[in-house]
Amino acid sequence: MIGKMRLPMNNVDKKLHRLKGNKFLRDLCSETDFTRSNFVQPIFVNETITNKEEILGLKDNFVMNLDDTLKQINVDISNGVNNFLLFISPKNKAQNSFNLSFHEQVISSVKDEFKNDINLWTDVCLCSLTDHGHCCLFNNDHSINLDTTLLEISNIARIYAEAGSDVIAPSDMMDGRTLKIREVLDNSNLSMTPIISYSTKFSSNFYGPFRNAAESTPSFGDRKQYQLDYRSKSEAIRASIRCAEEGADMLMVKPGITSIDLISNIKDKTNLMVGAYQVSGEYAGICLSEEKGLLNLEEALKETWHVMRRAEAQFIITYGARLAKQIGF
Ligand SMILES: [Zn+2]
Repeated sequence: MIGKMRLPMNNVDKKLHRLKGNKFLRDLCSETDFTRSNFVQPIFVNETITNKEEILGLKDNFVMNLDDTLKQINVDISNGVNNFLLFISPKNKAQNSFNLSFHEQVISSVKDEFKNDINLWTDVCLCSLTDHGHCCLFNNDHSINLDTTLLEISNIARIYAEAGSDVIAPSDMMDGRTLKIREVLDNSNLSMTPIISYSTKFSSNFYGPFRNAAESTPSFGDRKQYQLDYRSKSEAIRASIRCAEEGADMLMVKPGITSIDLISNIKDKTNLMVGAYQVSGEYAGICLSEEKGLLNLEEALKETWHVMRRAEAQFIITYGARLAKQIGF
């Protein structure tokens, strides 16, 4: 009987092994603690930047060149941060046939410098690469060309993983992307690279500061064709189930605070851990209120983080991850 249950090797579910792949992921997956190991710090790298620029509304967060990125990560490590999420913006945008040499340079330089002292996640999407700023490629009539989009996205994911990215984080919300990325990674000797999908991602008003930083404002239309409608609950949960079925190792809701009612539901339905992304508008709201003397930044962050954890978020991506240690995590 046992023999009959044997699966071909390429069908074996390696999720549990993938999430044990490094110390930082093991700590991030611990369900008995809530510590700074559960936080992920976004980092913005831009090929055209000479001097680092603070991102409007996001206190202590910058758009940086590669040199400043390495310095920043070094400081962050000394402040107890080990999980980083890279957003890389190249100088040249294109319609297709993207040049990823800057991405490869950034990822390999960061990994060469810090090796296993960090857990490096890389955001995978087309919006910082395309000349129109959308997360997909289009047909002539502006309908989404899913086949070529998935080919590009999975190819990009492979290149990031080969350059040294520890985690692949697709954020585009295209049907089939997780499945395609998993297939390409598995066929490229990268079967132990985890995919942590932005699985329930709403079309939201709270992404403003981020779009300026990541240069990802669409030049026409909006993202309602492929991001979720915040009025929908069942569709939002189904989107995460889709990513789970396609082979995601962990899932994510975004924005965090407007999605906390969904986290435990998604976790129950998929048996996967679910994180929350405290997005730029959420973080900026707290920073700007503090600037006006309306609240205490550290106490307010602490409250939002505990609320996300109470809602069963396993990890939190936040622009304040580098403050977690001094706040007491
Ligand atoms: Zn995108």
